[in-house]
Amino acid sequence: MVNIILLGPPGAGKGTQAKRLVDERDMVQLSTGDMLRAARSSGTEMGKRVAAVMDRGNLVTDDIVIGLIEEQLVHPHGGGFIFDGFPRTLKQADALGDLMARIGQNIDVVLEIRVDDEALKHRIVGRYTCGTCGAVYHDENHPTRVPGVCDNCGGTTMKRRADDTEEALKTRMLAYYRDTSPLIGYYYAKGKLATVDGLAEMDTVAAAIAKVLDRT
Ligand code: AMP
Repeated sequence: MVNIILLGPPGAGKGTQAKRLVDERDMVQLSTGDMLRAARSSGTEMGKRVAAVMDRGNLVTDDIVIGLIEEQLVHPHGGGFIFDGFPRTLKQADALGDLMARIGQNIDVVLEIRVDDEALKHRIVGRYTCGTCGAVYHDENHPTRVPGVCDNCGGTTMKRRADDTEEALKTRMLAYYRDTSPLIGYYYAKGKLATVDGLAEMDTVAAAIAKVLDRT
């Protein structure tokens, strides 16, 4: 069993790669972004509180996201956990270490998906997902084969994120470099960091990740 963190700026492909690992290796994806979006659409108090913060591209407070992860980490999972978009601050990283220790687990490897910042804008601004199964597409790089119909599940509701705009992206990038990128050094110093080239084709990135996981 391997427990991993996917680390990288918005648009690096963390969600896309996480979904493949879920399908191929029976891992469990824990995405705080997905959890927060679910809280918003189900209209919980917390969801309402974080909506504006998320739409502007700022980080939600540590206590909220740590609480969301804590709820999920009750037992180890045989296939391992994929932390996607969490931790995003040093405080969250320390909390994750403690929460994993509580269930007798630890983080085995942190995969930094490295990308060129200019490429990110293009990726994010054209991004859409299937509202039914969550498959990720892009207007130019990877459109659905039949316009408006998901290749994966045949769903016909495509969604765009409210924070996938140029303006919110600037804030999200700033949050990444200010608060999250120090985690690269943090996990390097713990001997857990592995870096893959996130600009390569999706399949090539997946193969690079598989190689790291197979030798872990
Ligand atoms: P994501 O889907 O990972 O890009 O997250 C979307 C938005 O949710 C972020 O821009 C933040 O506003 C919020 N968010 C998700 N995960 C975290 C986290 N670990 N810490 C703080 N805010 C988060």
